[in-house]
Amino acid sequence: MSLQFKGIYKIKADLINTTGLHIGGSKENFEIGGLDNPVIKVSFPIDLSHEENDWKIEEGMPYIPGSSLKGKMRSLLEWINNRVSENKGEPCGCGKCVVCKIFGAHKNNKIEEPVKLKVSDAYPSKNTIENWKDLGENIYTEIKTENVINRISSSATPRPIERVPAGSEFKVVMTYEVFKDEDISNLKNVFIAMDALQSNFLGGGGSRGNGRVIFKNIKVEFKSRDNFLDISKEIKTEEFNNIKEVQENFEKVINLSKGE
Ligand SMILES: [Zn+2]
Repeated sequence: MSLQFKGIYKIKADLINTTGLHIGGSKENFEIGGLDNPVIKVSFPIDLSHEENDWKIEEGMPYIPGSSLKGKMRSLLEWINNRVSENKGEPCGCGKCVVCKIFGAHKNNKIEEPVKLKVSDAYPSKNTIENWKDLGENIYTEIKTENVINRISSSATPRPIERVPAGSEFKVVMTYEVFKDEDISNLKNVFIAMDALQSNFLGGGGSRGNGRVIFKNIKVEFKSRDNFLDISKEIKTEEFNNIKEVQENFEKVINLSKGE
């Protein structure tokens, strides 16, 4: 099968956690005497000033791994497309369904197409970093204590869980490669997965109220093959306030990749 590279969609969005967010990190990177249930944090400072002036992520600030976001979006899209029951709870590996075409086929190296969607690690926005200063010096999270009630004695065993405070904002960046017309129409499934995530939760403790998220300020651009070959050519962009607006105006997203 011959594939012809047509271009790359870049989707940028602000992800806001409207309830405390817990994406588990490694205890090993946590100080001695620290918490049992830490969230994942950056290990080294990251200078993102090339993206936005003075945007710097300090060591110890929480972030959202691209793999966490991508994995959750994939699992929700598998449920929506009835791809779950056949695989005993494993991700789909058929290589033929829309989920495999977008996210890759699980444990299947006979796949004939490249994985379309790549999700970057999402770092806290400058605003959020500013807001976290109110929590105290070098403190970017909150500790929530959940209780396990003993059924007989009614005594409560507290269990501390670290969370990213509600109202924090993370900068999501995804890219989606286009080879065939089918890839362009399949892109709508990425927004279906984002919508599904808004109706679900991200990270741990969703059934106990953690991890509600919404996407805002969605920017979609298409960098065509021509844009790569001739950098003076304008890159087309569309902006939307929320996921619903993208879905209602999806032809605008399709048109970005049409008519050179
Ligand atoms: Zn599949």
